[in-house]
Amino acid sequence: MSGAPSIVWLRDDLRVADNPALAAAVERGRPVVVLYLLDEESAGVRPLGGASRWWLHHSLERLGEELAGLGGALTLRRGAAERSIPSLIEETGADAVYWNRRYGAARQTDAALKSRVIDDGLEATSFQASLLFEPWTITTGAGGPYGVFTPYWKACMNRAEPREPLPAPTRIEGIAPGGDALADWTLLPTRPDWAEGLRETWTPGSAGAHDRLEEFAEEMLADYHRRDEPDLRATSMLSPHLRFGEISPFEVWHRIRYGLSAAAAKNRDKFLSEIGWREFSYHILFHHPDLATRNYRADFDAFPWTTPEDAELDRWRRGRTGIPIVDAGMRQLWRTGWMHNRVRMITASFLTKNLQVDWRTGEEWFWDTLVDADEASNAASWQWVAGSGADAAPYFRVFNPELQAKKFDPRGEYVHRWVPEVGTDEYPEPMVDLRESRQAALDAYEAVSAARSSRRAARSP
Ligand SMILES: Cc1cc2nc3c(=O)[nH]c(=O)nc-3n(C[C@H](O)[C@H](O)[C@H](O)COP(=O)(O)OP(=O)(O)OC[C@H]3O[C@@H](n4cnc5c(N)ncnc54)[C@H](O)[C@@H]3O)c2cc1C
Repeated sequence: MSGAPSIVWLRDDLRVADNPALAAAVERGRPVVVLYLLDEESAGVRPLGGASRWWLHHSLERLGEELAGLGGALTLRRGAAERSIPSLIEETGADAVYWNRRYGAARQTDAALKSRVIDDGLEATSFQASLLFEPWTITTGAGGPYGVFTPYWKACMNRAEPREPLPAPTRIEGIAPGGDALADWTLLPTRPDWAEGLRETWTPGSAGAHDRLEEFAEEMLADYHRRDEPDLRATSMLSPHLRFGEISPFEVWHRIRYGLSAAAAKNRDKFLSEIGWREFSYHILFHHPDLATRNYRADFDAFPWTTPEDAELDRWRRGRTGIPIVDAGMRQLWRTGWMHNRVRMITASFLTKNLQVDWRTGEEWFWDTLVDADEASNAASWQWVAGSGADAAPYFRVFNPELQAKKFDPRGEYVHRWVPEVGTDEYPEPMVDLRESRQAALDAYEAVSAARSSRRAARSP
């Protein structure tokens, strides 16, 4: 095979199957450079947290093996995209670059790069791969973005069915211009090695993702109506695989859409609507690229968040608050890099309401510790719980962790699994009184709302 090579720049799409950028490069019939760039510098790129770095290491390892099995190779480079991509083009003589689209603030980097490559007379093409519905294609009757999930998802469901997944290439004519060794990126923790629980829980890579999907469709989807029970394995645990693009939402969609048992089929639409929440989070992020740092609802800018001592915050981070369900969730997160959705809501509500700590503090901790830490879903969900977000639970709806535990973990199995010392002298007293702290949060919110109403009244004629 000869001719100028094509570059495939992989980002959140670490897979060979259903990868339109890779498929286009292979189809072009020229040698292919498959690149992953560790870019911690470009505008809009948020450096990965610790758990995500662990995941990335293993995911890249698997992907390298898969590419090698097809005749290709994975080139690893480090640096800002705006420098690294042009220099790789020059070095290899490539005349085309392909990538799958990103939807957060980093898309500005992509847009600038695309113009530059095209201005140089070369090809740069981007593809839809990570979302079923691209954010700008779903609009309200008035032509604007949605701020509420139900009508948003209804509009999506009125669209044509998402396309079928693309098969993996059968052969890749790869060239490897030389790059970094994965180990030199030191993505894995060493001193201390805190990743034991992650290794026990996860198999990063596309094969692990497809195994999880198959197991879920065959065995767990039938129990998905009990998905709020944290001790039951009723959810898919696909979130980190989707986050890194080891499996595409199109692959998930088409596997779940057809060929299920009758018991599983009953829960199908509910499950697909959760995939819809992921889409909705990206819809919000696309229209609010600063979602992780700025209140979606500006009236929350005046909220009097408290500034806790680090030691106090550490009680929440390490699962030592004295509220068993909160501690169980925070310890599950620390150990496995994942927390059950219901408990994410409870722990986030406890931080933002009972402790009145700014949601951004919680978002950052989750960003560092979750293997599925996702720039759209994490920020949108934190804001949703805090009350400052799109389609948010109202601020005055404060989760009562004790009632939540009674309802969703009635036999205390989840709590006992993660907090074995609960009920003994070793277990700490609650760090706040739940009733008093709830009232204090409501009073603070009342004060902000009253100030806002009086400002509005003063402005109106
Ligand atoms: C405070 C907070 C922070 C969160 N941070 C993240 C995050 O960083 N990354 C992340 O992927 N999810 C996040 N979520 C959403 C949700 O908790 C996880 O997606 C879910 O627990 C993953 O488990 P699962 O794969 O078994 O879910 P399933 O129930 O099997 O759902 C299937 C898929 O749908 C998507 N999904 C499900 N629920 C949601 C939701 N509420 N919002 C967005 N997508 C959803 C995920 O991709 C998930 O893998 C957060 C929720 C809260 C309350």
